[in-house]
Amino acid sequence: MSDIRFQHVTKIFGRKVEAVKDLSFVINDGEYVSLIGPSGCGKTTTLRLLAGTILPTKGQIFFDDKPMGNVRIQDRNIGFVFQHFAIFPHMNIWENVAYSPTVRGRSKREIESLVEDALKSVQMSEKAELYPPSLSAPDWQKTALARVLASEARILLLDEPLGALDQKIREEFQIFLRNLVKREKLTAIHVTHDQAEALTISDRVAVMNKGELIQLGSPSDLIYNPSHIFTSFFVGESDFLEGVMITDEENEVEVKIGQSIIKTHNTGIPKGRRVAVAVRREFFSLEKMPADGKEIPNNYISGTIIRDQFLGLLRRVSVLLENQQIIEAKIHAKHPVHFNENDLVKVRIDPAVSRCFAYPKEGIAKALEM
Ligand code: ADP
Ligand code: MG
Repeated sequence: MSDIRFQHVTKIFGRKVEAVKDLSFVINDGEYVSLIGPSGCGKTTTLRLLAGTILPTKGQIFFDDKPMGNVRIQDRNIGFVFQHFAIFPHMNIWENVAYSPTVRGRSKREIESLVEDALKSVQMSEKAELYPPSLSAPDWQKTALARVLASEARILLLDEPLGALDQKIREEFQIFLRNLVKREKLTAIHVTHDQAEALTISDRVAVMNKGELIQLGSPSDLIYNPSHIFTSFFVGESDFLEGVMITDEENEVEVKIGQSIIKTHNTGIPKGRRVAVAVRREFFSLEKMPADGKEIPNNYISGTIIRDQFLGLLRRVSVLLENQQIIEAKIHAKHPVHFNENDLVKVRIDPAVSRCFAYPKEGIAKALEM
């Protein structure tokens, strides 16, 4: 078992750099969790707190309900893989993987069995005699993973482990890594700046900003069910439409944006409040306005095309909405209609995938500051 629990953990460096603030969350045994967020938001600090290379200023970390306050790094049952992993260049792969069980005084028989199993698990048995300088970047990372397995760690900490790999290899390695973690029943915490990687590889993803945990949810929750305006902003791309709440319902609500009525999902905002409706740019649908199209149905906003720009697989269509806001819809490159400047269009806001947030008092830009 390796449940991990953060309880009000704060880390302050020096007098006042609050690297992480009041973090409270649970990672379940066997879970694969990624940490994402802007540079400097506290991801590496969170990993270092887990590892025990730094201690919390306030709060406590528990592994299986056991406080880690005075537990040394080597007694935490943890293994690391970093972008540039320090495998020993003068030892061959076998010796590198044998290092941890050797220094822990395991018997020769146990070491052999641990190393063989670990190498097999990462498909490196054939390369056991080779030396690191002759290996490719993915094989370095496989060696690093084999070392963790042979150390019998139950918790795997990964800081940008695939950062040095080319895109195609990286995508294959993501699947390899997830399968390995699941097969070996490890608990993995993976820091990455690559959102697609986090959404592909993880059971849950933690979004952080300025030292705070913003949302910890499944990949699909982050896309379809953001609980915080920052998640809508940081994960993928969204536009934020300004409006006013006009109903008092619990769940499905109506918002007035310019002249239009939009059904959306509430997050507990009272009638009359100013709101921001977050819509992912891929989820807008665009239709040309019929010649006699004066009536705008619910869930549509009228607008005028600014430009329709080719992006490869997608097109970015900029639209000036009737309420004077500009959106950047992303539509499939093969969308049947090509839009020209000044075309009149209606933009559909899908109630199922839009989310309504209280309009931030400090303004949108300030609320989304990283
Ligand atoms: P991330 O990994 O998300 O980019 P870090 O956890 O490395 O962010 O850093 C979070 C914040 O803490 C940053 O402002 C960083 O400058 C600061 N910080 C990290 N380590 C130290 C340290 N040893 N001393 C002082 N400040 C630090
Ligand atoms: Mg970092």
